[in-house]
Amino acid sequence: MSTQYPQPVEIRREGANILVTWSDGHRSDFSNHYLRTKCQCASCVDEWTRKPLLDPATIPADIHADQIQPVGNYAIQPSWSDGHTTGIYSFTLLRKLCPCDACQADGAAEEAAAS
Ligand SMILES: [Zn+2]
Ligand SMILES: [Zn+2]
Repeated sequence: MSTQYPQPVEIRREGANILVTWSDGHRSDFSNHYLRTKCQCASCVDEWTRKPLLDPATIPADIHADQIQPVGNYAIQPSWSDGHTTGIYSFTLLRKLCPCDACQADGAAEEAAAS
C-alpha cells in the first residue's frame, strides 16, 4: 500500500460528541448518536447485502461511548451506553464518516465518480 491514510492522533469524548484530531491536522466532530447509527457490525448492517438492520429511531438520543478501545493500530471499538460493543470503526471508515462539509463534499464526489 502506497497511500498513507491519516491516523487519529487524539480521540476525545466531549459531552455529546467525540472529537478526533487526525495526523494531517484535520479535526472531526462526531456526535455520539451519529457515530452509533453508522455502526457497520454484523448486527447493524447485513454482511451480504450491506442493508442497514439498525433502525436509528431505536437508538437513545443520549447515547454515548462509555469507553473507546483501540483495535490494533487501524481501528477503534466504542462501548456504547446501550450495551452495544461489537462495532469496529476503522480509521478509514471514521475519516469517511467525518461530518464536516469538506469531507462530505469529497465523499459525494467519490460516490458520483464511482457510479
Ligand atoms: Zn453494531
Ligand atoms: Zn472532515
